[in-house]
Amino acid sequence: MITEPTLRPRRSAATDDRAPEDNSAVTNQTPTSDELWMEEALRCAQRALELGEVPVGAIVVREGKIVGRGWNRSIIDSDPTAHAEVAALREAGTTVGNHRLGDCELFVTIEPCAMCAGALVHARIKRLVYGSDDPKAGAVRSVMQVLNHPQLNHKVEVRSAVLGGRSAELLQTFFKNRR
Ligand code: ZN
Repeated sequence: MITEPTLRPRRSAATDDRAPEDNSAVTNQTPTSDELWMEEALRCAQRALELGEVPVGAIVVREGKIVGRGWNRSIIDSDPTAHAEVAALREAGTTVGNHRLGDCELFVTIEPCAMCAGALVHARIKRLVYGSDDPKAGAVRSVMQVLNHPQLNHKVEVRSAVLGGRSAELLQTFFKNRR
């Protein structure tokens, strides 16, 4: 269920905390809307972390509104397919009432794996924005190229490295604490 269909990403705490007279110094660091949406994906990743899951979060945005949110639940659900992107796509499909999401963008904290990249193609997602590359399983460019494969018709606009440092930091914290 989407509880806040019109929620827009809030500005980061760092921005909120600044005094008005600091605004001139902040101007050239104003986050783009991609960064604001990524903040929301990072909040989803945080929820995975709190559940003891690999901290990856995703949201689907349509016409400036969040229509799906997801975070990893593979361990607690005993479901190998319960990745953040799949959960966000499922919720978006239900919200929109269509399995095709051609007017939607997906924001995810790390580069999608082969399964999720395949799901993005099935959904006909218009645009993908992700945080850090995944050198072990990334299927946009790091390990293989499922998205925008030359033999696939569907083309997805891709932007990477949006708040990538924050995504990577979350993952590093998780794996460090597990050792
Ligand atoms: Zn995946």
